Amino acid sequence: MPCACVLCGQVQADVVCAGCADDLLKPTPRCPRCALPHRAAGLCNMCRCAPPPFDATIALGDYAPPREALVLALKFGGVLPLANWLACELASAWAARPSPSSSDPDDKPCLVVPIPLAPARLAERGFNQSWEIARSLAPRLGAAARADLLVRARDTAPQTALAADRRHLNIAGAFALARHADADDVRGRHVALVDDVMTTGATLAEAAAVLKRHGAARVTALVALRTPAPQ
Ligand SMILES: [Zn+2]
Ligand SMILES: [Zn+2]
Repeated sequence: MPCACVLCGQVQADVVCAGCADDLLKPTPRCPRCALPHRAAGLCNMCRCAPPPFDATIALGDYAPPREALVLALKFGGVLPLANWLACELASAWAARPSPSSSDPDDKPCLVVPIPLAPARLAERGFNQSWEIARSLAPRLGAAARADLLVRARDTAPQTALAADRRHLNIAGAFALARHADADDVRGRHVALVDDVMTTGATLAEAAAVLKRHGAARVTALVALRTPAPQ
């Protein structure tokens, strides 16, 4: 069935047309740890001074017009085939990532975990866009998708409503390992943490910190889009 490209509207075979995909996926030099655009080799200054709890980040492109339409169409337009498309591209980006150094072991993630939505938000939207991407991504990485490991421990105000410096405070303590989760579910594992958008990285950092506290060996964030210069 032909479909309209969510970015330019052209009717063709996929949810994103080849031209828009080429433009979105143009390789951009990024910090390997936080995926901020970064020209020099190695880590950006922020990651050198205050390394986040996640070990690496893969992002497909910048969260900026017109590319933000990708996430908006998935999240608010319910264009679920986009989750599969994003998962496919994230798997390719994973395979094409620069080879890690010896201090950065080249182990594949064995668990793919989405950032959980608050129950009220999930009920309102009907699906968790991060889980839709995660469950499509996991088989492509040869990993298990687990929607039940990480839970929301408390309600938080939407991060988008807050200034960057308030986001860490707002999200602190927001996640926990599910009560039924076994310590061995996470201990020693490389976990791929999936979210649709990474803005300041506060949400992913908080979730990664919970996984690390429970013994995760490594956490790689995989996000569809990354805000280039969070204010
Ligand atoms: Zn297009
Ligand atoms: Zn960085």
